[in-house]
Amino acid sequence: MIAIHQQTGLDLFNPLQEILKKHLNLSAACVPSIDVPANARDPLRNQYNANAITHAITASRKFDLHLVVVDVDLYAPGMNFIFGQADPVSKTAVVSIYRLAGTRLNERLAKEVVHEILHLLGLSHCPDSDCIMYFSNTIADTDRKKVSLCNSCRRKLEAL
Ligand code: ZN
Ligand code: ZN
Repeated sequence: MIAIHQQTGLDLFNPLQEILKKHLNLSAACVPSIDVPANARDPLRNQYNANAITHAITASRKFDLHLVVVDVDLYAPGMNFIFGQADPVSKTAVVSIYRLAGTRLNERLAKEVVHEILHLLGLSHCPDSDCIMYFSNTIADTDRKKVSLCNSCRRKLEAL
């Protein structure tokens, strides 16, 4: 069971529930949204540190896995921006729709969510640009890759 925390102006629970069921066979629970912690915002960058958001969830974890979906622009130290991040220790992933907007939102959201949840399940990045575990530097990377695993990553997941 995975808990979904939504912090966006859209209600994405139904599409997220479908994505998690279809691609990962995970059942989802809609749980109260979190407030993005004020200290997550870097005023100079006008972006939010993904680690601070993950840490805000860690204190109140009740489920095996947690997914936080936000609409603010995320960064990680050393990166200009990130689409999402996974913390395998707290089993919490955060994905932002900020850079996914457009007619392909649901497809992009599916790819970013599945990618981050697979990190939580133990997979790391893959050099195959078609594989869902390929690291997206740009939205074009996300749009090009498939929402499925390459054979090598599939074997790794089965062995976990
Ligand atoms: Zn990744
Ligand atoms: Zn792969």
